[in-house]
Amino acid sequence: MTITTTCPFCGKIQLIRVHNEDFHDWENGVPAQEAFPYLSEDDREALISGICPNCWDEMIGGKGEEDEPDLEWGYDEDMGFDPYLGCYTDDC
Ligand SMILES: [Zn+2]
Repeated sequence: MTITTTCPFCGKIQLIRVHNEDFHDWENGVPAQEAFPYLSEDDREALISGICPNCWDEMIGGKGEEDEPDLEWGYDEDMGFDPYLGCYTDDC
């Protein structure tokens, strides 16, 4: 049989071919890795959660595209700190 899953994040539709009896086993509580030893990890994940490999990678941060934290100046207007000079204007 062919299972159709839709990724909950990007909407990508994936088709996964499994044996009927394996799917039946899985529905009855057999772990996916035992029920479908012939599927890739990506396919099993798609079957379980619908999440496609791309979104899965992003979710676990596999591509290292984390936003850099904003640099914060130790800037306090009342103190007259000049972020460009890097000192307090009174001291310069
Ligand atoms: Zn996706």
